[in-house]
Amino acid sequence: MFLAGKKNFILKSETSNEVTCPKCNTQNSTKVSIIGVYKHLVQIPFLSGGKSGESICISCNQKFTLKNMPASIKLAYFELKETVKTPIWFFSGLIVVKVLVLVKIFSRYF
Ligand SMILES: [Zn+2]
Repeated sequence: MFLAGKKNFILKSETSNEVTCPKCNTQNSTKVSIIGVYKHLVQIPFLSGGKSGESICISCNQKFTLKNMPASIKLAYFELKETVKTPIWFFSGLIVVKVLVLVKIFSRYF
């Protein structure tokens, strides 16, 4: 089925001034992004698939994903992640289904 799948959405990006790029040694050039993963059904976000992260150096374009991120960048990632909440619209599909079920239940009594 091609109707369901996973999508990424950048929740927050921040250039950390505490991180020095391990490749070009430039300080204040690494942009850390928190990526929210959501599962969608027919393009409607249904469930949150957790958070991931990546970083990019503006100066030399060195990219890191969460898996191969050096500890110093990872620290900045976790700090930033603390400030980010999973957006409610990640669950829109689920909320609609719940509302429909409730409407169906209540319609029996009215
Ligand atoms: Zn760099």
